[in-house]
Amino acid sequence: MTNTFRAALYIDGEWREGGDGGTFAVVDPADGSTIADFPIATSADCLAAVEAAAAAQEGWAATPPRVRSELLRAAYDLLTEEVELFAEIMVRENGKSWSDAMGEANYAKEFFRWFAEEAVRIPGDYRLSPAGDKRIVVDRQPIGVSLLITPWNFPAAMATRKLAPALAAGCAVILKPARETPLTAAYMVEVLERVGVPRGVVGLVTPVPTGPLVAEMLAHPAVRKLSFTGSTEVGRELLHACADTVVSASMELGGNAPVIVLPGADLDTTVPEALLAKMRNGGSACTAANRFYVHSSLHEEFVRRMAEALSSVSVGSGLDRLNQLGALVSVRERDKVAALVDSAVSEGATVVTGGHSSETGAFYDATLLTGVRHGSEINATEIFGPVTAVVAYDEVDDAIRMANDTEFGLMAYVFGEEREAMAVARRLESGMVAVNRGVVSDPAAPFGGVKQSGLGREGASEGILEFLEEKYIALTA
Ligand code: NAD
Repeated sequence: MTNTFRAALYIDGEWREGGDGGTFAVVDPADGSTIADFPIATSADCLAAVEAAAAAQEGWAATPPRVRSELLRAAYDLLTEEVELFAEIMVRENGKSWSDAMGEANYAKEFFRWFAEEAVRIPGDYRLSPAGDKRIVVDRQPIGVSLLITPWNFPAAMATRKLAPALAAGCAVILKPARETPLTAAYMVEVLERVGVPRGVVGLVTPVPTGPLVAEMLAHPAVRKLSFTGSTEVGRELLHACADTVVSASMELGGNAPVIVLPGADLDTTVPEALLAKMRNGGSACTAANRFYVHSSLHEEFVRRMAEALSSVSVGSGLDRLNQLGALVSVRERDKVAALVDSAVSEGATVVTGGHSSETGAFYDATLLTGVRHGSEINATEIFGPVTAVVAYDEVDDAIRMANDTEFGLMAYVFGEEREAMAVARRLESGMVAVNRGVVSDPAAPFGGVKQSGLGREGASEGILEFLEEKYIALTA
């Protein structure tokens, strides 16, 4: 176990303290101890990072794609060598279980490998005008300096899903991680430094107060892109800030994923996959199954099997690699989950298993609720914790109507006989639908939401397009 973490800003190729010497504590949520004091970036620090990126932009854009590709591949290789350290940093500052941390470390580094391959395949286009008088050349160029803002729940993968395509496209970047998890970000930036990404191309800042200093960075004329992952509430605010200087914005926002268990579902497949959909990352996932709509013919057996599995989940620090469920990111988040369970119970739900907070550390039991009312607080809110909330239904049309009855549209799950499940999947208002599966994330798949869950797609060949813009060059025929 390491006890030394890189805790510094990275500006213009140098690791630095904050301009006024201020710091904030990074806390291990499993025991409340402070594991590092991370510098607060001042306004001057943030603007210095933007200026450094602006100075590096032209050179990075002109770097041959093969060179950019090889740097990303080297980052993938280094993270593969150091995957246990990578996972351990996440266990310490985020609280997740060892298997979730290893799962994230492996998923996160895949974005470097995937976009190393995409860097040398940036598409362009050529066409003759209808009148035959000119040749239309459509070039794709890097959009420019990009600000990348990430949440705490997947501190590595949400960052590499932005860093890798931006760098592959030829954009200089500034990463602003969540305050709860800056150490994972600093480690990944250090990896990029170690493999030789040139000075100024990557910056790392942790501004406080966040909103005003992020707005200052967005107002800088060099910043042409914001790629944000986080809550819909903050995303909305940032879209307003982007409007002032017409900055292009990609938004990966909140979700409220429904799970529809159809009458034809095979519970032998459905239950293990539903557990993955709910419990991956301890339920702190934007794709986490949030609302279970279970056909009344299967309800009793589904609940029995889920309760049996959830009641045997071992809860505790991720440093003990056998624990299946880690801590929430903070006591505050744990208390939010507990309050949602209390509100469900006050609205008539029954706790079948779980329902307790730990005495010390930010742990909450794997919990199952039945008799949850559609439209109740727990059903309408992103729970972000290990709570399975079940609603029984009789008519499939009602289940689809309830599933779509939300401002979110990120992820949905359908379990059932495949043809019927596919027909339901087509009717769901969701950027992504899993049919008879509990996990969908893949670097080769376009990840993103509709409605108030976001704008744009990350990963896949679509992901790099968010950091490129078309330039039309007219030539004579
Ligand atoms: P959050 O919106 O509170 O914070 C996200 C990031 O924005 C953090 O870096 C935070 O410091 C920063 N931030 C906060 N206020 C800001 C402001 N006023 N201006 C600029 N930046 C600001 O979200 P969170 O609590 O860290 O993460 C959980 C949320 O993220 C959930 O809603 C979850 O669904 C969402 N999420 C979405 C995806 C996706 O791909 N769609 C993935 C992971 C998480």
